[in-house]
Amino acid sequence: MTVLVFVDPAHPDGRLADPLSPQLSVLDQGLTRGDGVFESALYKGGSVRKLEMHLARLAVSAETLDLTIPPADAWRAAVKTAVEEYDAAARPGEEPAESVVKLIATRGPESSAAGSPHGTAWVTVSPAPALGQRQRETGVDVLLLDRGYDSTVAERAPWLLMGAKTLSYAVNMAALRYARAQGADDVIFTSSDGRVLEGPTSTVLLATRMQDADGNEVKRLITPTLETGILPGTTQGAIFAAAQEAGWELGYGPVVPSDLRAATAVWLVSSVRLLTPVNSLDGEAIGTDAELTAELTAMVNRVS
Ligand code: PLP
Repeated sequence: MTVLVFVDPAHPDGRLADPLSPQLSVLDQGLTRGDGVFESALYKGGSVRKLEMHLARLAVSAETLDLTIPPADAWRAAVKTAVEEYDAAARPGEEPAESVVKLIATRGPESSAAGSPHGTAWVTVSPAPALGQRQRETGVDVLLLDRGYDSTVAERAPWLLMGAKTLSYAVNMAALRYARAQGADDVIFTSSDGRVLEGPTSTVLLATRMQDADGNEVKRLITPTLETGILPGTTQGAIFAAAQEAGWELGYGPVVPSDLRAATAVWLVSSVRLLTPVNSLDGEAIGTDAELTAELTAMVNRVS
């Protein structure tokens, strides 16, 4: 079951449409060029998690693409309409426990590119993929794959749109298919100069348990630095805020593959999949820590 609501200035609460019948122009540059931006948020327990963080990142991505998108209030209204409709359409007692809210904005049809102030913008709600929910429990086997850019490319080549969440995810999906063909579950991209970057749909976190001079345990949580051109993860941001409050030390890369192998535990985190332990890298087992996974999962579950 999917609910579709267009963000449409003529309909302040959004315009409901049928997701199974044709809705977009074949000339829409979101389709013909992958020219657009998107967000995926988790809808669970009656709330769209971190909606404001997703709206803020959507606005930054759009600005990076010089794309005019509807104002945040119009998105909020369309999201509200979409989840209300989604809940109303579910059979009582059969509501999916976890669902995905997608916010998508494209440059619109080619012919109206200059004249259309807002391109095309819509919201969908659908059940969250079961695979991601299972992998939270089982963990994942990961391949390190070269993304082909060095870690300073974002600053040198802004036209590559590093760090924006664009619709051009064909490469990310191809990397996942490549990993699956090799018997792995997921991917961590590395830069051509050997830095750890991110997953195709996730941020990398690693943790180390240490002892300070007085013998007290210190837990340090690290993520690759944003200067490498990765997407600023909203889940990583929320976990870091909660971990800091809980007394963890925080650090931002550079991270190299040997850091992942030496860590107490490594996770892939994202809004819909939440926190997924990494069991192995390139076929070799790495450290996992059920207690730290439980602690960070509790933090991520408290995020609203
Ligand atoms: N990095 C990439 C490339 C992603 O596509 C995603 C999410 O889909 C993330 C990181 C994680 O971002 P978030 O935690 O905001 O979902």
